[in-house]
Amino acid sequence: MKFDILTLFPEMFEAVKQSVIGKAIEKQLIQINLINIRDFSKDKHKKVDDTPYGGGAGMVMMPDVVYDAYSSIQNKENAKVIYLSPKGKVLNQEKVLELSKQEHLILLCGHYEGIDQRVIDEIVDEEISIGDYVLTGGEIPAMVLVDSVSRYIQGVLKQESTQEESFTNNLLEYPQYTRPQEFMGLKVPDVLVSGNHQEVEKWRQQQSLERTKQNRSDLLE
Ligand code: SAM
Repeated sequence: MKFDILTLFPEMFEAVKQSVIGKAIEKQLIQINLINIRDFSKDKHKKVDDTPYGGGAGMVMMPDVVYDAYSSIQNKENAKVIYLSPKGKVLNQEKVLELSKQEHLILLCGHYEGIDQRVIDEIVDEEISIGDYVLTGGEIPAMVLVDSVSRYIQGVLKQESTQEESFTNNLLEYPQYTRPQEFMGLKVPDVLVSGNHQEVEKWRQQQSLERTKQNRSDLLE
């Protein structure tokens, strides 16, 4: 999977290149290319934004600069272009799985008040939000998307790791425990050390259901 990321703050993406994702990059299972939108400014001060037509607070990223940055990406015929935006559809596990089947994603990160609508209309296939709140920029949302999608690319994780986790079958995951068997007077549930796999499975299913009812009853509807 290739991710081309259009951003004003490429240095922020060091954060996503760690741990599992870092190893996936090393193994060439995924590739992350960062394109600094500011490099395409025609202004001697490298300006990339201007005041909004019609007035209002803040600045808007200029369409020509964003378009030129996008145009610099080679071999993008089969790419899907995603604008990370609070105005988009909210990302969920179903969308993550769908996106993991793509071979090339181009992620556009906005900043300030956002991006001139004309370039969005021209190049973007889909707008995705990571939740009903507003962040200062699209970089963290793009990292959320890279991380969540990469986990479903073959070879990045062991297959079992993604088979029984939260949101599989619309349930949240059961609680997990590890050594020591007793911590601050709290014991691991007996069933988990019983060696009875059927009982363990039954207990996990019950726990999953209870947690889902308690925290996310909407998933069960
Ligand atoms: N004025 C915009 C609005 O009210 O919808 C918000 C702009 S926000 C301050 C700047 C940039 O952060 C956006 O262009 C977008 O790329 C990103 N962003 C902010 N919140 C986001 C969210 N919940 N999901 C995805 N991207 C987000």
